[in-house]
Amino acid sequence: MNIAIAGVGLVGRVLALNLLEKGHTLTLFDEDSAYGDASAGFTAAGMLALFAELETAESSIFARGKRSINLWPSLLDQVGISDAYQLEGSIITAHPQDVSELDHFIQTLKSKVDEASSIQTLNRDEIMALEPDLEQHNRAFYIPHEGQVDAQRFMQASSDYLLNHPDVIWHQETKVEKVEELLKEFDWVYDSRGLGAQEDIQDLRGVRGEVFWLEAPEVKITRPTRMLHPRYKIYIVPRPNDRYIIGATEIESEDKSPMSVRSSLELLSAVYSMHSGFAEARIIKTATNCRPTLKDNLPQIVHEDKLTRINGLYRHGYLLAPAVVEDALNQGIYK
Ligand SMILES: Cc1cc2nc3c(=O)[nH]c(=O)nc-3n(C[C@H](O)[C@H](O)[C@H](O)COP(=O)(O)OP(=O)(O)OC[C@H]3O[C@@H](n4cnc5c(N)ncnc54)[C@H](O)[C@@H]3O)c2cc1C
Repeated sequence: MNIAIAGVGLVGRVLALNLLEKGHTLTLFDEDSAYGDASAGFTAAGMLALFAELETAESSIFARGKRSINLWPSLLDQVGISDAYQLEGSIITAHPQDVSELDHFIQTLKSKVDEASSIQTLNRDEIMALEPDLEQHNRAFYIPHEGQVDAQRFMQASSDYLLNHPDVIWHQETKVEKVEELLKEFDWVYDSRGLGAQEDIQDLRGVRGEVFWLEAPEVKITRPTRMLHPRYKIYIVPRPNDRYIIGATEIESEDKSPMSVRSSLELLSAVYSMHSGFAEARIIKTATNCRPTLKDNLPQIVHEDKLTRINGLYRHGYLLAPAVVEDALNQGIYK
């Protein structure tokens, strides 16, 4: 089939990779350039936080998250970066005065899914064995089956792959105002414009998120690590070359302007209290974007005649996109 995809952020790319494997011809439209950083998928930390997200999310995301974690390796293989996937578990910790938060957090996860019984409590020696750089913590939790996709490498490698694919035409810097118009020319149309689909999707809102990129040679944390705090949750996501993504704020606002002083104070003081080696880190950059989110904070797939809209992946795009796209294809074009 001759298929159009409007919006080539995270969902659009996962869709394109799936459809190419089935032998379709694709025309992609994005208002940004192929290497642009406008999409939330480009700003994301790429964490596959299957359990940790359950604190505030519905347990329905768990089943899709589990499927996505199994689907990511073949997608990354397709674009030639199988090493951009890490599934070595994650660490959750808190300051001594907030340990009750930590216990409550884990209890909440355990009340939502049985598999959360695999979460292990770590004492100081066990923390030292897994992540020696977190030695100042006396208590933490280890969550197996969590990890990350290197989001920026995925965006870059998928751009290269799609731009060079003989069955793909990519219209860069081309805004699609009315996706329905594309039906005149194409056999099937996908709307994956994220927040850009606000005019067509009721109650679609942006949730602002801010992150720091730090270079910290004095820090050797190897797994995604979260710190719980009564007012905010921060995570540290290790990347190659001593780099760490520190994030992310969650603010009910569609403002994509640069990071605020308040957010930077909170994120940096939290990260410094987690490991004093961050004091000498260099700030490589900050980034801000908005997560496309619906009223119930859950993904939405809508099928109209030969038009499928996928949206609302909120803070779970990497955790959920492969399974959500698989569901959209099976309920629509392959029904
Ligand atoms: C700070 C931050 C951290 C995050 N961390 C994580 C994480 O660790 N793990 C996780 O699972 N998720 C994370 N997310 C969430 C994830 O990034 C989103 O859920 C995901 O990117 C949504 O995918 P999408 O394709 O719907 O939207 P996007 O990725 O935003 O893509 C939308 C695309 O549509 C294009 N577009 C918009 N309007 C138009 C138009 N009219 N015409 C043509 N093109 C258009 C845009 O240019 C863009 O390329 C994070 C998000 C943020 C902001």
